[in-house]
Amino acid sequence: MLDYFDMESTLSEEERLLVDSARSFIDGEVADIGQHWIDGTFPTDLIPKMGEMGFYAPNLEGYGLPGVSETAYGLLMRELEACDSGLRSMASVQGALVMYPIHAFGSDAQKEEWLPKLGTGEAVGCFGLTEPEHGSNPSAMETTADPDGDEYVLNGSKTWITNSPIADVAVVWARDHGEEDTPVRGFLVETDRDGVATNKIDEKLSLRASITGEISLQDVRVPKENRLPGVEGMKGPLSCLTQARYGIAWGAVGAAADCFEVAREYATDREQFGKPIGGFQMQQEKLAEMATQITLAQLLAHRLAELKEAGEMRPQHVSMAKRNNVRTARDQSRIAREMLGGNGITADYSPMRHMANMETVYTYEGTHDIHTLILGEDLTGIQAYQ
Ligand SMILES: Cc1cc2nc3c(=O)[nH]c(=O)nc-3n(C[C@H](O)[C@H](O)[C@H](O)COP(=O)(O)OP(=O)(O)OC[C@H]3O[C@@H](n4cnc5c(N)ncnc54)[C@H](O)[C@@H]3O)c2cc1C
Repeated sequence: MLDYFDMESTLSEEERLLVDSARSFIDGEVADIGQHWIDGTFPTDLIPKMGEMGFYAPNLEGYGLPGVSETAYGLLMRELEACDSGLRSMASVQGALVMYPIHAFGSDAQKEEWLPKLGTGEAVGCFGLTEPEHGSNPSAMETTADPDGDEYVLNGSKTWITNSPIADVAVVWARDHGEEDTPVRGFLVETDRDGVATNKIDEKLSLRASITGEISLQDVRVPKENRLPGVEGMKGPLSCLTQARYGIAWGAVGAAADCFEVAREYATDREQFGKPIGGFQMQQEKLAEMATQITLAQLLAHRLAELKEAGEMRPQHVSMAKRNNVRTARDQSRIAREMLGGNGITADYSPMRHMANMETVYTYEGTHDIHTLILGEDLTGIQAYQ
């Protein structure tokens, strides 16, 4: 993988081992990801195998989780997304959006029940924040949780939820009507409860190797112990998003770097006008720009990891890295596709698959526009959301 400034030389033994094992896992087990993308399926047989490999929340500690460095975790996301954004999304949702909130805000009983089986992939989780009428502004959510004796009764509807049709448990964010100011709170909702439906969203033209669905909640009763006790307000879901966006900032580097390698190889093989197309200045300019932009994204990801490790990372740092690195992957995958000519539009090569995936990655976990507004507010002190 492209590493123009030799960042690999700064890695620890543990980090290098993790990269090597992730690469050999992907080479050995995920060769058919292009076919899954065409079929619109996720290789579900890989879910426990990815657990065995330690791909779910390895940066957390306890409950059998190894607590690897933030750089190691980022590199893992990079390797997974170099294969496909669907694979990285599986690990991001399970680790950063489901295990993280249970680990950070859950009761001991919730942690003991869920973290070991989510970590091994024996159970699958999903994260329900987005609603049909509230995407970029989730704080306007309409899903409610009403206390009734020892239980809460949940009503509402979530959409665009990665893995909801195959999930055993959903972290559902809802307004708690048990308190006067109806704060947002997280609830662990087992998907086999009465009143839960998780319909699949079909015919996506992006992130096809990932299962996406809705969560409909009609008078769903959960015990009061299913509420996450340790957090209240939008801080709950937003802190999960910071963790997942961190992984995306790294993952986008992987997708872009894979496109670069494919384009470079093609440019040195493919001959037109009697020589490899890589011998023409225009193609060299594309490769030079691609390598430069990917290197900048990679350096940003490494610095973000240092800040996270030191406890100095702010959500705005993550916004800048997610915004920049996904834009880089979106732009550069398109250039790579272009360099492959007609072959570039076939499923035989990865750039167009990455390019289509990037439309989702550009949109979820805060759209590019929303991250622009987060940075604008940080830089001026003035909110421009509404
Ligand atoms: C494949 C996929 C998987 C997903 N997985 C999950 C998941 O697991 N869990 C989950 O909760 N959600 C998930 N999402 C939802 C995702 O987070 C939302 O799609 C995203 O937040 C945008 O919301 P929206 O689609 O409603 O767009 P909208 O919020 O309606 O935005 C539409 C457009 O308006 C722009 N816009 C909105 N507000 C402003 C403003 N104030 N100023 C300027 N422009 C603005 C946006 O940038 C965008 O371009 C997923 C989405 C996709 C596509």
